[in-house]
Amino acid sequence: MILLKLKSAQPLAFFAGQFVNLRHGEVIRSYSIANIPNSNHELVFHIRVLPNGKFSCFVADELQVGMPLEFSHAQGNCHYVEGKSEQPLLLIGTGTGLAPLYGILCDALENHKHQGEIHLFHGSRDESGLYFENELRELENRHANFHYTPCLSAEGNDEKYTQGRVNQIALQQFPKLEGWRVYLCGQSEMVLQTKRQAYLQGASLQQIYADAFSS
Ligand SMILES: Cc1cc2nc3c(=O)[nH]c(=O)nc-3n(C[C@H](O)[C@H](O)[C@H](O)COP(=O)(O)OP(=O)(O)OC[C@H]3O[C@@H](n4cnc5c(N)ncnc54)[C@H](O)[C@@H]3O)c2cc1C
Repeated sequence: MILLKLKSAQPLAFFAGQFVNLRHGEVIRSYSIANIPNSNHELVFHIRVLPNGKFSCFVADELQVGMPLEFSHAQGNCHYVEGKSEQPLLLIGTGTGLAPLYGILCDALENHKHQGEIHLFHGSRDESGLYFENELRELENRHANFHYTPCLSAEGNDEKYTQGRVNQIALQQFPKLEGWRVYLCGQSEMVLQTKRQAYLQGASLQQIYADAFSS
């Protein structure tokens, strides 16, 4: 994962968790904003480098500090919504699906002092796909209402991690989702399956926010 930080030339209105389209020549790709708005007009992205990925390899191999990069306005409704501070939140993400979830989490805890329970489940096949464990453990220590569960789906991983598919683990732990707000980000199939299952377990469709990272 590459942590990419951009400084916007002009102030940009956005909510953490929304996405922008970054452009390099003819290649345009969407990336989620992983930070809350700040006075430096800084935007933070978590970019997974794919083998032969046109944009992600450009970021890994060619992008230099100081190079200008074009990007669109912020889009999408996958962000924290003010108003129901007591509502429990369930955040499920795979890989760099953590980017919008981390932004949403910081917005909820630091900006809005969200009071309800917040459960973040981050999944990957193996340890190489997990990141920000220290940052998330630190948030967990500072906020009694925040709970973080890293999950690994391949066999033979370190037993300190919860074993299994992140969406199955989360939905088994919380079988009744009536009244919850649910955020789902990352691998498309996981997002679509989990959206359906969360609805079947009682979450209202208006309370399910999802970003499927299809290319
Ligand atoms: C709303 C939205 C938000 C997104 N946010 C993020 C983000 O925060 N961080 C992030 O890393 N990505 C994010 N993505 C995915 C991102 O837009 C690109 O699709 C991804 O980075 C691949 O682009 P690329 O040009 O490097 O690879 P491409 O040149 O498009 O593809 C290279 C190869 O990888 C395969 N591939 C493409 N995408 C994936 C994938 N997701 N998983 C596995 N194989 C794939 C392709 O089929 C192809 O074989 C988001 C997508 C959407 C729609």
